Amino acid sequence: MKLFDTHAHFDPFAAEGTVAQVLQRAAAAGVERMCAVGSSEASNELVVRLAREHLAALVAAVGYDRDQLEKPRDMEKLAALAADPAVVAVGEIGLDYYYSAETAPAQRALFGQMLEFAAARKRPVIVHSRYADDDTIDLLGEFSTLWKKSFSAPHGLAPQPDLDPHGLAPWVNQFGEDALANASTRSPTAQGGGGPMIPPPGILHCFTGDAAFAEELLALGFFISFSGIVSFNNAGPLREVAKLIPEDRLLIETDCPYLTPKPFRGKVNEPAFVARVAEVLAEARGVDAAALAETTCANARRIFQLEG
Ligand SMILES: [Zn+2]
Repeated sequence: MKLFDTHAHFDPFAAEGTVAQVLQRAAAAGVERMCAVGSSEASNELVVRLAREHLAALVAAVGYDRDQLEKPRDMEKLAALAADPAVVAVGEIGLDYYYSAETAPAQRALFGQMLEFAAARKRPVIVHSRYADDDTIDLLGEFSTLWKKSFSAPHGLAPQPDLDPHGLAPWVNQFGEDALANASTRSPTAQGGGGPMIPPPGILHCFTGDAAFAEELLALGFFISFSGIVSFNNAGPLREVAKLIPEDRLLIETDCPYLTPKPFRGKVNEPAFVARVAEVLAEARGVDAAALAETTCANARRIFQLEG
């Protein structure tokens, strides 16, 4: 199998000095690439260092997540890290009202700042959303506008002449109301009828939402990534939603060291187990696991704009 784990936290493996073994086990399981995701000052530095050390296996994402509100944040440092060629996305960022609903306004402000940061650098975002789906969609809607602007009007040029009266580029409606119904091969980068080429804007990672949330994300051009949660006994409704996601928007991840898939519960999660996520998701969708691995791998390369 050929796999891409689009969301892995390496902090615990770095702390234990087991990164090399974790990468070896991943390679043995058919994981050809992983996105090492940062969320704090320390983890952002770590993932960029690791990605530079393991260029063939790792890419990196950097950002300040909602749990960093009270922690040191240095936007200049973040900008320097984000400029590294090993960095392919801004993340993990987002909203989580489950444990700390009282900080919702501050979370939204930080998330908005991160989204602006990403749009200005033309980097897709890796988004976390828990008990905050309405606010997430609101902010991603604003991000979507910024994202399109950053590609359609480079260097402060006047709007393109082919913009419609609402100021929307011609491709805007391509993921419209029938996005879920059409499990098509449409690529967000291959549309536009001569208009600007707009790459996909981001990933909703570790998706646990309902079909309505998925549909809104798809309409915004987002990719949807499933973790080991799809293997859990009580995840029947999630497996139903997973069936609805168009093949060309589907991604898989471990979110390790958390969320170890069945039947490995009790072990520390690691990228090698993304093979199990592929199996469970393939079973839910009624497709071959190797084919799903291949497709999600190609999708990951597309969202992260990786060559070859
Ligand atoms: Zn994560």
